[in-house]
Amino acid sequence: RAGRTHEPALLFFSEEMNQRAKEHLRIESELRDALANDELMLYYQPKVSLRSGRIVGAEALLRWRHPVRGLVSPGVFIPVAEETGLITELGNWVVEEACRQIRQWRDANVIMPPVAVNLSARQFDRGLPQRMGQVLEQYQVHPEQLMLEITESLLVRGADSVIAIMNELVAMGLALALDDFGTGYSSLAYLKKFPISTLKIDRAFVVGLPHEQNDCAIARAIVTMGQQLRQEIVAEGVETMEQMHFLRELGCDQLQGYLFSQPVPAADFERMLREGRRLSFTGP
Ligand code: C2E
Ligand code: MG
Ligand code: MG
Ligand code: MG
Repeated sequence: RAGRTHEPALLFFSEEMNQRAKEHLRIESELRDALANDELMLYYQPKVSLRSGRIVGAEALLRWRHPVRGLVSPGVFIPVAEETGLITELGNWVVEEACRQIRQWRDANVIMPPVAVNLSARQFDRGLPQRMGQVLEQYQVHPEQLMLEITESLLVRGADSVIAIMNELVAMGLALALDDFGTGYSSLAYLKKFPISTLKIDRAFVVGLPHEQNDCAIARAIVTMGQQLRQEIVAEGVETMEQMHFLRELGCDQLQGYLFSQPVPAADFERMLREGRRLSFTGP
């Protein structure tokens, strides 16, 4: 009798796991189709200088236009792609599409700041520098036009092989940015072992500026450290003038966030550049 009371809970639990497994399988198989059927696209979000107000970079963000479910967020399908290993193919597609677009912009005489792509830790293997080199070569894109955003999980692995691959990429002319900085567990002390030129303060610490004391202290610490290490500091997820002014006063170099623009399709980003759109420091 006593055992019976557990049964429904167990059944419910395994049913839920079953559902999750099914959901994963469905996303995985649909994601394969998405690659084949051209359902993926890149959106571009400007990075803006806190000195000049000008667009000085862009981040390419993956979007999936699902035929039935509409625009699916990378927060949903990237984790599945990472689990299943499909991220390798997806990542290759992203790099190639970014280079194709950069080349197209250059052919159209659009003056383009560097475009950053996100790399998953699983893409970071021995073959990466060569793969990157091939795509740059294929589209005749200068490595200075492309940046790579990596996350702390890669640093925590800490292996010399990771540093060697990074050094190889940097020697090719590719700059590395550390994404979502502050959310992982990498120690500040060994940050300097890695050839990283840009730190991106995670949105989690920007959201509370300038009212949350802890967020202010963290943002200040990151900016100060970045200046010491001669790294560019980008604040992610900046949505308000207040946040912007606080970061500007700290000496943060760039912002990225809805305050200036959401991620937009390539044509809209191109229009922003052509129009020379700038961030106003004195309000809308
Ligand atoms: P991330 O690299 O940290 O990208 C920044 C995310 O913050 C983007 O979400 C962007 O739309 C969002 N964001 C930017 N400004 C604001 C703001 O002011 N407010 C708010 N609330 N959000 C803002 P998105 O595009 O949904 O991407 C989520 C994550 O998915 C990315 O975080 C990145 O980790 C991953 N991801 C996206 N594209 C790729 C890709 O091509 N490859 C890999 N490996 N991961 C990707
Ligand atoms: Mg990123
Ligand atoms: Mg980020
Ligand atoms: Mg983030």
